[in-house]
Amino acid sequence: MPGWTIACDFDGTVSVGDVTDLLLERYGRPGWEELETAWQHGEIGSRACMAGQIALLDMSPAQLDAAIDRIRIDPDFPAFVRAALGAGVPVTIVSDGLDLAIRRILARHDLGMLPIVANRLEPAGPRRYRLEFPHSNPGCHAASGTCKCDHVARERVNHPHVLLIGDGTSDFCAAGSVDFVFAKSRLIQRCREQGLPHLPIRGFADALVALPALLVGELAGASATSPLLSGHSLHARN
Ligand SMILES: [Mg+2]
Ligand SMILES: [Zn+2]
Repeated sequence: MPGWTIACDFDGTVSVGDVTDLLLERYGRPGWEELETAWQHGEIGSRACMAGQIALLDMSPAQLDAAIDRIRIDPDFPAFVRAALGAGVPVTIVSDGLDLAIRRILARHDLGMLPIVANRLEPAGPRRYRLEFPHSNPGCHAASGTCKCDHVARERVNHPHVLLIGDGTSDFCAAGSVDFVFAKSRLIQRCREQGLPHLPIRGFADALVALPALLVGELAGASATSPLLSGHSLHARN
């Protein structure tokens, strides 16, 4: 059935771990943890947090490439993308992370064709970087770098149904404006609290199983208690 499109988070959803955190842990100058704490306490948005943190990176372009090349992805993501594209469902990476890292990681897995909506990492010196925000939205309460609800609103022009796949805070603003969510970790609790139609997943192996049911309309509105998926281990997680 036509009409669906997928907005897919990257960090913690496609990638194992958060790219920015992995870079900062090894190459961040002092101060990045304070920014992280301020963001966690809601004192600043992720946009201000990440702009400050990226400015604290101290690494050469070669070190950046090498660090990115050590980042692993969910092993079932490439199969999921092939299944979605094969069913005529476009997949867009919509991320509050670093476009350069996402592009390099996807290319390594022959997924360089996926469109990426993310923050732009720019060189600012031999060992310095700055982050730019071509997809931010001052009107969104989330104060993120990439506003995912804004992206979803634009996708609706061409696609009546939007599936969000994500795991965390950067997905919260979009979760309320899509038709269905495949949710990991913190996003599961958020969807439950807000009463949003969603399916808890552990990774893309689960997403791959659930996608055909979603596309034929057997999942939307049924949420995680669908008899369709009973007996499947999706129910095992809390
Ligand atoms: Mg994430
Ligand atoms: Zn938003």
